[in-house]
Amino acid sequence: MTKFQSLFPETYEASRERFRKNLPIVRSMWSKAELFQHKLAGEEDLTIDWIYSDAVETNQKVFILTTGEHGVEGYVGAAMMQRFIEKYMSRLDPRTTGILLVHAINPWGMKYHRRGNRDNIDINRTFLYNIDHDPAFNPAYEGIARFLNPGTQIKNLVLDNIGYTLQLFWHIARMGMKNFRDALLLGQYRHPQGLYYGGKERPEETQALMNLYKQMMSSYDQILHLDMHTGYGPRYQMSLVNSALDKNPSAYYEKRFNYPLVVAATADEFYAIRGDMVDYEYALWQHEFPEKRFFATAFEFGTLGNTLYGLFHSPRVMIHENRAYWYGAKNEELLAKAKHGFEELFNPAASDWKEKAVADADQAFNGILSAEGYLV
Ligand SMILES: [Zn+2]
Repeated sequence: MTKFQSLFPETYEASRERFRKNLPIVRSMWSKAELFQHKLAGEEDLTIDWIYSDAVETNQKVFILTTGEHGVEGYVGAAMMQRFIEKYMSRLDPRTTGILLVHAINPWGMKYHRRGNRDNIDINRTFLYNIDHDPAFNPAYEGIARFLNPGTQIKNLVLDNIGYTLQLFWHIARMGMKNFRDALLLGQYRHPQGLYYGGKERPEETQALMNLYKQMMSSYDQILHLDMHTGYGPRYQMSLVNSALDKNPSAYYEKRFNYPLVVAATADEFYAIRGDMVDYEYALWQHEFPEKRFFATAFEFGTLGNTLYGLFHSPRVMIHENRAYWYGAKNEELLAKAKHGFEELFNPAASDWKEKAVADADQAFNGILSAEGYLV
């Protein structure tokens, strides 16, 4: 067992419980800190929890940390939240700095180990500023929709893998790698059982977070937001993924934060997205609060890696899990395999992975908090 193993929670409930118990620790610095909750519609006990406090004297700057926008990624996110609270929070200055810590933006997805919410909506395709959930967006998705969601039970992994490989190569040959990746990852608002589905209207999770971001932008002169994700990029080097709307080049941030891997969420450096949460904040800032100082980025903890294997394997894992979710598998073993592969893509079990992830987060917390003037 590694020294960091205990940072990584086993269940949504245990993670939420631990998060709530942090309130007194936050209060030892911000005496007026409160725990807030947004309970999701429905019977189940699923909540977005956040701890918030104004600065103790004057609201100059605010630090925001969010986790679990992609439910299953919330386990690593919760580990990083705990790490921040235990190791970095005490170095902020509560007199001038407010704090907002958000546990599980997508609690249903975290509890049930899926990326999307109960309606299969990828919350990170729903942060649309001044545009609609347009069903006609990303028409190229139509051409790969059957490939991504065959609409049948999983029956035989060997045959499925051969079929997957042949179809993948056919679509890449037909469309080109770039167009294929765009069609896959951009988001789509038409296939409710498909991948990267953005829904038909704004989900309640999205609205809750939009309200918080607006409140933070109106209350402070400087806003710094770090959002936790997993699944993409090299396995043993967390990537800082900046918004496509940030004007500075990645190399500038690598130097500024003393961090070795920064990419922008553009088609060239990472992949393009519609409805990205951090993009929404940039739009909000540029349109409504241009006089403020703002920076936000995502910690993206890679798992399968950037090798050909990883690039080939990640869509396969996502297709399998989605298929198993909607249509089931012929037997328990096939179902367990589909779920296990998915879990490894977003919440890896290996202790050396966890240790490196925490070390990378440490380096990034240090670099960003000090460059942005948050450490006293
Ligand atoms: Zn994510």
